[in-house]
Amino acid sequence: MLSGWLRACALVMVGLVSASALAVDKPHTAIVVGGGLAGLTAAYELQNKGWQVTLLEAKPNVGGRSGLAGGEWIGNAKAQPVLNQYLDRFKLKSIPAPEYVRTPGYLIEGEYFSAADLATRQPATAEAIKRYEAAIDDIARSITDPENPAANSTLFALDQINVANWLDRLALPPTARQLINQQIRTRYDEPSRLSLLYLAQQARVNRDIDERDRRAARLPGGSVVLAEEFVKQLKVIKTNSPVSAISQDKDGVTVKVGALGYQADYVVLAVPLRALGKIQLTPALDAQHQGAIKSTNYGWHDQIMLKFKTPVWDSKARMSGEIYSNTGLGMLWIEPALKGGANAVINLSGDNARIMQSFADKQMVDQVLIRLHAFYPQARGAFTGYEIRRSSVDPSTGGAYLAFGPGQISKYWRLWEKPLQRVAFAGEHTDSLYPGTLEGALRTGQRAASQVQDLAAGKSFEPVKAAPAKAPEPAKASGGGIGGFFSNLFGGSKPEPKPAEKAPEPAPAPVPAPVMPPPAPVVEPAKPAVEPAKKAPAKKEPTKKAPVKKAPAKPAATHKAPTKAEAAKKAPAKATSDNAATPATDSKN
Ligand SMILES: Cc1cc2nc3c(=O)[nH]c(=O)nc-3n(C[C@H](O)[C@H](O)[C@H](O)COP(=O)(O)OP(=O)(O)OC[C@H]3O[C@@H](n4cnc5c(N)ncnc54)[C@H](O)[C@@H]3O)c2cc1C
Repeated sequence: MLSGWLRACALVMVGLVSASALAVDKPHTAIVVGGGLAGLTAAYELQNKGWQVTLLEAKPNVGGRSGLAGGEWIGNAKAQPVLNQYLDRFKLKSIPAPEYVRTPGYLIEGEYFSAADLATRQPATAEAIKRYEAAIDDIARSITDPENPAANSTLFALDQINVANWLDRLALPPTARQLINQQIRTRYDEPSRLSLLYLAQQARVNRDIDERDRRAARLPGGSVVLAEEFVKQLKVIKTNSPVSAISQDKDGVTVKVGALGYQADYVVLAVPLRALGKIQLTPALDAQHQGAIKSTNYGWHDQIMLKFKTPVWDSKARMSGEIYSNTGLGMLWIEPALKGGANAVINLSGDNARIMQSFADKQMVDQVLIRLHAFYPQARGAFTGYEIRRSSVDPSTGGAYLAFGPGQISKYWRLWEKPLQRVAFAGEHTDSLYPGTLEGALRTGQRAASQVQDLAAGKSFEPVKAAPAKAPEPAKASGGGIGGFFSNLFGGSKPEPKPAEKAPEPAPAPVPAPVMPPPAPVVEPAKPAVEPAKKAPAKKEPTKKAPVKKAPAKPAATHKAPTKAEAAKKAPAKATSDNAATPATDSKN
């Protein structure tokens, strides 16, 4: 009797001990949705902390938008500290940029000017550019904390104003205005679509960073090389896995890819807002989050590389780095070293890109060639081909990267920094200091990884305060109650109470140009026709292996691992054995 009782006690004890041992040993699990640099960073950081992580990427390759830019100019450790930390960690060597790349130049009616040339040969234009820089710096200086740009009612009011309206009041001479427009739309978006507070906040973030530090080096192969390093470290990556739904309850999350379901403790959602809008979340997002998904402005940036047999431009022009054209050419640089031959990369941004959204790639290239040919008459004869990357017409991003429009900081500031139960958000659009950059993407991957660990440790997150409790009427704010600040800002006149859309800057009348169509409304464009001459951008989803009707116990085993050649092609794709998230047998919703 006694021995039976003792035996029962022993069994209970063993059961308790092994259960608690299991609880201690069982690693936390996370699913990271999106294999851009933000998702890769989050997965890498969590895995380093002993988590079992599964990264799900919709496309055949990871790397996301980082694959688009090819050879971005990157900042040094002062300008982009997190990026440089990872380059050091993975022993990736960047090449210092030549000095002439580190400061912007100008192409005025096809003639190249360095900043120094401009000061001596076009002093009125140079002076007006300085005046603009001083004016934006005035506002930037008034932002004490760039993480809280709308800290007072005056600054809050600036968010309601669009940059084009503010520029109008600076009454800049036409050439200077065109060059400034070009710089703003190249870095962010069309001035008419941009919040003045956002432009000022970005100027504040970069205020103590020399322009030269921001274009200090180039990573051979571009940032996709960094993505490859993350891939080498990660144990479980499933490409061709577009997530369609995520449901969470008190016990965990279920993530659906087609008919398959994956379960884990937490999710990091690292996809751009438009892509996020296509994922069904249970419980559903509130109205503010849904509004942000629909309306947060993304800048438009298309890159076209025109290839020539020989240089058709003035060989003395050191056209590299950022060259702002005052015509419809956008920002351009010359690309002799990386691709061979004599190549010019043209960056069409803002409305210069929007105006051509309905054009097929080849038509778009023709339009650019026509403009180039106007200044460089050998252009057509020497032209051999092109490559094009049109982030503006990619339906999954709806633009290239976040650029807050008027009123949007007030509504959505740091909205995505707060996890929602078991879901943390990452991606360039969720960074408060460096959105639209590699630095921003990497920072948010780190932040989301640490938030998920905090959640697992029982921490809860308060919403980030965005704006002052009470916003003033913009007109009131300009009415002198705030000293000379607004008077200086608007040359003494009232700010517009409501942002107005401005028509795109007129493209220069191209010499024998086909008639440009009127600007198309901003809607999802028809996909441009695929041109045979070009390298196909990764727009099409590959045919996915049909999932087995009833989800198998180990869906990863059925997933086709990409070949090494595929991996080398662009960003690497990788799939390994399933040892992180547990695939669920089927969906609940
Ligand atoms: C033209 C251009 C030029 C740029 N130039 C520079 C530059 O010079 N310097 C700089 O610092 N930055 C530059 N950037 C910005 C930089 O590339 C981005 O900020 C960064 O790559 C964004 O990374 P991310 O991880 O946030 O998003 P992404 O790279 O977009 O990653 C998101 C990933 O999620 C995947 N996804 C989407 N939906 C789903 C789904 N349902 N299921 C699974 N996966 C999904 C996507 O396929 C993608 O791989 C440039 C961007 C563009 C477009």
